[in-house]
Amino acid sequence: MEKFTTKTQIQQYLSLARANGKTIGLVPTMGALHAGHLSLIQQAQQQCDVVVCSIFVNPTQFTDPADLEKYPRPIQEDIRKLEAIGCDVLFEPAVNEIYDNNEHWHLNIGTLEDLLEGKYRPGHYQGVTQVVYKFFTLINPDVAFFGQKDYQQFLVISRMVALMDMPVKLIMCPIQREADGLAMSSRNIHLTPADRQNALVLSKTLNRIKSDFDINNIAILKQQAEAAINNQPGTQLDYFEIADGDTLLPADKQSKKIVALVAAKVGQTRLIDNVMISG
Ligand code: AMP
Repeated sequence: MEKFTTKTQIQQYLSLARANGKTIGLVPTMGALHAGHLSLIQQAQQQCDVVVCSIFVNPTQFTDPADLEKYPRPIQEDIRKLEAIGCDVLFEPAVNEIYDNNEHWHLNIGTLEDLLEGKYRPGHYQGVTQVVYKFFTLINPDVAFFGQKDYQQFLVISRMVALMDMPVKLIMCPIQREADGLAMSSRNIHLTPADRQNALVLSKTLNRIKSDFDINNIAILKQQAEAAINNQPGTQLDYFEIADGDTLLPADKQSKKIVALVAAKVGQTRLIDNVMISG
C-alpha cells in the first residue's frame, strides 16, 4: 500500500494513475477502522481501479473539544487492516497540511443544516462539507463511498456535490452491525460492558418501528420509540425521528422514502443509528 501524508505526493501519484486510464475511488474516514469502514473499501475495490482511503480526524467537524481529544487514533492497527484488505493508497495528512490558520468556510445546505444531527451538533456539517470539499478537489475521485450509518451526512454531501457541480459519483453503503445488532462505530470502544448492553435498545427500537410501521400511526410509533429509549437505564435520547428519506423532515404520505433515525447518549458515548423503512 502507498502511504502519503502530503497533498503534493498524493496528487503526483494519482495524476499518473489517471493518465494511465485508472478510475479512482475514495473512502474518507477518521480512522479507528472497523468492519464498517472495510466494507466501504471492498465496495470501492469492486467499482474502481485505485482505492484511496483517507484517515483524517477533522477538527472542524467536532463540536465538543473533549470528543476530539478522546477520538481513538490506532494508526498502526489501521495500516495493518488496510494492508490486509489490499487497499491501494492511504492518505493520512496532518491537520496543518489541510488547513491554514483562520480559514473560513460556509456552504448553504438549507434545512439539513439545523435538523437532527445539525441541531445537536451545530456547525458539524460545515466542518464535514469543508473537509470533504477539500478531499474531493485534491483527490478528484470518480466515485466516493460513504456509509448509510451517517445518513444525514450523505444527504449533505450529495447537496454539496450538486451545488458545486462536482464530477464525483456518490455511493451509499449499508450499515455493518455487530452480531447482536449494534451498529459498528469507532466510538463503541468507549462503551463500558453495561453501556454495550444498554446500547442495544437503539437498533432494537429501530427494528421494531420498521416491523410495526404504519403510515397512519407515525406519531404513536415515534412516542413508543422515544419511551423505549428513555426507559433504558444509562441512555439519554437526543432524537428519534421517522423522516422523509430525501429531506429528513417528518415523513408523511407523500414521502417516497422513509427512514427512522436515532441519536442517544449511552453512558458517556453519543451513538447514532438508522434504518430504512421504505423506498
Ligand atoms: P467515520 O470514520 O466515522 O468518519 O466514518 C467513515 C465512513 O465510514 C463514513 O462514510 C461512515 O458512514 C462509514 N461508516 C461508519 N460506520 C459504519 C458502519 N457501521 N457501516 C457502514 N459504514 C460505516
